[in-house]
Amino acid sequence: MDEFALIELLRPPPGAARADVRLGMGDDGAVLVPPPACELVAATDLLVAGRHFPEGTDPEALGHKALAVNLSDLAAMGAEPAWALLQLSLPEADGDFVAAFARGFHRLAGEHRVALVGGDTVRGPLAVGVTVLGWVAAGGALTRAGARPGHRIYVTGSLGDAALGLACRQGGCDLPGPLRDQVVERLERPRPRLAAGRALAPQASAGIDISDGLPADLGHLLAASGCGARLQAAELPWSEAGRAFLAAGGDRRLLLEGGDDYELCLTVAPERERALCQIARELAVPLTCIGTVEAEPGIRLAEADGGLQDLPAAGYRHFP
Ligand code: ADP
Ligand code: MG
Repeated sequence: MDEFALIELLRPPPGAARADVRLGMGDDGAVLVPPPACELVAATDLLVAGRHFPEGTDPEALGHKALAVNLSDLAAMGAEPAWALLQLSLPEADGDFVAAFARGFHRLAGEHRVALVGGDTVRGPLAVGVTVLGWVAAGGALTRAGARPGHRIYVTGSLGDAALGLACRQGGCDLPGPLRDQVVERLERPRPRLAAGRALAPQASAGIDISDGLPADLGHLLAASGCGARLQAAELPWSEAGRAFLAAGGDRRLLLEGGDDYELCLTVAPERERALCQIARELAVPLTCIGTVEAEPGIRLAEADGGLQDLPAAGYRHFP
């Protein structure tokens, strides 16, 4: 199968067209019409086989995840996604692989009305790069830099499930079957918190998506804001699987530092807290207060028994 036949397999399904795509895949560049008075928000992530996902990963799950991790970045900015570009490096012209990848990619793209408008396809080691473009109202992007001492720290959903999913995949976790299925799903098909990000951003003072684990990503937010934080261990939101893992003596650090959560971590000024929680309830998005921003740099974790320990901002680093 040649390069152009492979590219044909990546075309969005009929019905996925957007009126703001003047010209999509097939020319030298895409022609896109941003709405007036908006600011574009762009994010990109590169996933490399053997580094970000194991060789032999289900291509449909890979198509989903490559887009999901990028949409999660737009969610953290409070942006509405619109367009995507896809760079594929493939060891061989495997049409079945590309068709399955395209199914996973376009199913998630369709859920969020994202149009694939271009990309590049080359032969090389298996790697997938996605770029997403979206927008916010002018001045409306939520950044990492707005947290101030006294602001409260919230996270959506639960933490550590993807880390448990990876442990299960690697044979290092003995959760009961249904919980195992849930955490593997969290690992392979993360659900980017786009609706929550858009709705909560106007109330929040800063935001980040949790891709490298809470300590690392909250650490980035706090560093950008010039602050530190105190977290309450008893408030950290675990799923049923996470609670079962901890009850069986599992290490909390795996849940905190394992990464791949794709939940949002938001800070909010006290006077906006009620509005933030009300919006989350209306959206039926679980939102948990886990601590407070402090002036002193670093993250401190208060245990239920009153003990206080520094939480190192450990997280995966490509160039340690
Ligand atoms: P060019 O040589 O002008 O860069 P290509 O031959 O690489 O164009 O690609 C042909 C068309 O197919 C372009 O419009 C490009 O955007 C699109 N395309 C190529 N690879 C992909 C991909 N992986 N995903 C989406 N569109 C792609
Ligand atoms: Mg090209």
